[in-house]
Amino acid sequence: MTKRLEGRILAGAVRSRVCSRVTAGLRAGASTPPGLLMIRVGEDPASISYVRGKEKAAAETGIVSRVEVLDLSTSEAVLLARIAEANRDPAIHGLLVQWPLPKQIRPEAASEAIDPAKDVDGLHPYNLGRLALGRPSIVPCTPLGILALLHAGRVPVAGARVVVLGRSQIVGRPLSLLLGVKADWADATVTTAHSHSRGLVNLAREADILVAAIGRPGAVTAEMVKPGATVVDVGIHRLDDPAAPKGVRIVGDVDAAGVEPVAGWLTPVPGGVGPLTVAMLLANTMEAWERACGVIGPATWMEACGLIPEGPGSGELVSGGLGE
Ligand code: NAP
Repeated sequence: MTKRLEGRILAGAVRSRVCSRVTAGLRAGASTPPGLLMIRVGEDPASISYVRGKEKAAAETGIVSRVEVLDLSTSEAVLLARIAEANRDPAIHGLLVQWPLPKQIRPEAASEAIDPAKDVDGLHPYNLGRLALGRPSIVPCTPLGILALLHAGRVPVAGARVVVLGRSQIVGRPLSLLLGVKADWADATVTTAHSHSRGLVNLAREADILVAAIGRPGAVTAEMVKPGATVVDVGIHRLDDPAAPKGVRIVGDVDAAGVEPVAGWLTPVPGGVGPLTVAMLLANTMEAWERACGVIGPATWMEACGLIPEGPGSGELVSGGLGE
């Protein structure tokens, strides 16, 4: 029977670790609590909901977060000027600009304007470059959450054949880099596939760990999964469903019902990768604050997300079947 890798349980453990380190840092003499500024441009409903979730989670850990909403017509120059101001503000330790952005603003211009030391989404070329060189500093939140989940669930990563479906800047590309780093917590053999990849079904079936990050509901079917493989479902889609409690059903990129009898492990949607993305944003913010204040000395993101020392054991993280 497929076991579920319950991201929401690990996310709770990461949040409580962040909370205790914030308390310890303040006791050790940090003059301000960690500050997180999230800039949202326009009123995209999904962005509103994501940012609200991040704000709520931050408040529970002692991170002081603020959301700044700019009008949809805001120019790139105005946004960049606001980012420059936030870069100089000593009370802001983490800074992010929520995607998607309106068409007059280049996402890469926004990412590159953020001070790499405050870039808690890990999307600045400096941070992505360090990741590409195998010396990660601030790692993008979703890939970091997936790595932590695999480790906490005791899924062997070193030497595993990993196929990542998708090469986006926020998920597929950095995850492929991260899992391929030369280190005992990674060391996977990684293939990154995309919309032009040929023979995708056979390619996917070779994977010990298959990651679906393509943005298409139910696209990963049972025939693409090697029996016993670990399947990580990154996709999030809200589908209209009159039979569902609020008329909406949330599904991932994986056809969960079809894949369940084949896979060894599966991340549920909702409750899998999503909560970890938020938890890792908090961990990245806390670490940026610790570095800025010098309160605890250089901390590692591996420790922040509960990988060292040991995170919750697999017994706490998994459940027996999708129907539970
Ligand atoms: P994205 O920027 O739209 O990128 C999609 C990637 O999938 C692209 O690289 C694309 O290839 C590839 N692709 C599209 N169709 C494909 C196909 N049929 N076969 C193989 N590859 C295909 O997506 P994203 O931002 O990475 O997000 C992916 C999904 O994850 C979305 O559902 C999003 O909502 C979700 N998401 C969830 C979280 C979370 O915390 N759980 C975080 C971020 C995103 P090309 O490069 O050739 O176009």
